[in-house]
Amino acid sequence: MTFTEKQTDPTAPTHWRGNMQADYLYPSGVAGDKFFKHLKGNDSFLATICPKCEKIFFPPRLYCEDCFVEIPDENWTEVPAQGTIRLFTTATINAHGKKMKTPKMVALIDIEKTDGAMLGIIKTTDPDKDHIGAKVKAVLKPKERREGVIKDILYFEEI
Ligand SMILES: [Zn+2]
Repeated sequence: MTFTEKQTDPTAPTHWRGNMQADYLYPSGVAGDKFFKHLKGNDSFLATICPKCEKIFFPPRLYCEDCFVEIPDENWTEVPAQGTIRLFTTATINAHGKKMKTPKMVALIDIEKTDGAMLGIIKTTDPDKDHIGAKVKAVLKPKERREGVIKDILYFEEI
C-alpha cells in the first residue's frame, strides 16, 4: 500500500485492521543457542566476559561491541537467574485496546553479576508499590517441560 494523499486530519485513522502474512525465521545465533540450551537444563543464566575490558555481557555475545575483540569459549560464565528491577510499567490494556482482567507488570531487570539487562514479567501481589530496586528471581518452567526458549522463563518474582 502506498500513501498518495497527505494526511492533514489528525483524527483520521492511522491504522487499519486486517491480516498480513509475515513468514520469517529469527535464529537466536550461536550465543543465543548456547544460552537457551543451558536454560533448558539449568536454573541459571549464561553470560560472556570480554577478555579486554571485562564487561560482562548479558545476554551473552561472541564479540565485545566496545573493544571489537572475540570472546573465547573459556569466557562464558554462569550467573544467577535473578536481578534488580531498574524500571517497570504496568499494562492495563492489551494489544487490541481492551482492558485486561489482570494488569501485567513488565520490568527491565539488571541481571546480577552482569552488565546486562532483560525485560521480564513481574508477578506481584502489590502492583501499586514502587518496585524500582527490588530484587527478583526468575521462575522457570519445570525442567521436563522446558523447550530452550525465552518462554521457559514464566515470570520474575521478588526474593
Ligand atoms: Zn571489551
